[in-house]
Amino acid sequence: MKRRAFVKTLVFASGVLYKTTDGMFQSKPDKESFRISMIYNNIGDYKNLKNAWGLSIWIETINNNILFDTGGDANVLLDNISNLNLDIQKLSKIILSHNHWDHTNALDDILENHAGSPEIFVVKNDLEEFLKKYPAAKIKGVNSFQQIDKDIWTTGELIGTNGNTLCEQGLLLVHERNLVLLTGCSHSGIVDMVKRTKQIFPDKSLELVAGGFHLGTKSIKEIAVISKDLKALKVKNIAPSHCTGDNAINYFRNDWQDNFIDLNLGEEYYF
Ligand SMILES: [Zn+2]
Ligand SMILES: [Zn+2]
Repeated sequence: MKRRAFVKTLVFASGVLYKTTDGMFQSKPDKESFRISMIYNNIGDYKNLKNAWGLSIWIETINNNILFDTGGDANVLLDNISNLNLDIQKLSKIILSHNHWDHTNALDDILENHAGSPEIFVVKNDLEEFLKKYPAAKIKGVNSFQQIDKDIWTTGELIGTNGNTLCEQGLLLVHERNLVLLTGCSHSGIVDMVKRTKQIFPDKSLELVAGGFHLGTKSIKEIAVISKDLKALKVKNIAPSHCTGDNAINYFRNDWQDNFIDLNLGEEYYF
């Protein structure tokens, strides 16, 4: 049996979140389990995986394999997928957080290499552009929050109150009373994305917010306010990566201590 390296184990009231680095399920996924694998990121260094600017997260459940964003370089993405022994043919759905190259560029090659026709979910604002580019693909425009798969939801199209007019969607994974929010770049503002999540699922506990937080231009003072806001919104754990920025990541690591989680290239979570 392959040795499993559990770096961190967090036990919650109604769920278990494991982190491992060996590319295998900690146990067989059952109807309530998710595996979240960071297969493309500019942060992290793992075995034979290539590191490049962008983000892509592979989500596996007992029923399905779903991709959240595709990263920026198709060769890197396809190499990483094959080095992790993941099977692109199993992908049934692809969710694109927003229309930036470092999240969408590898879509062409995924569709070319996929024997079937995975459903693609983009924010409604970008639907026309994607339909033009991929006329044969099954593309859906997301307006408000909606279910994508069993226990998987999109926040719907978000435009932040921070003045950024770029539309973005986050992905919500639900396990019993627990909830995970995955973000691409959070151009609409990480705090606003969390607030939206709390509106959609007011009774769920937000166990983890993971992905790009886009705080590279923020001052430490501004980062401190955001960190406080996330705690006030009862986010339990954060895993900022990709475009979050070094200053913000260092601040969060210090401020959140055990509730700061590294989820970078090659790292995985189960819950
Ligand atoms: Zn972006
Ligand atoms: Zn990005």
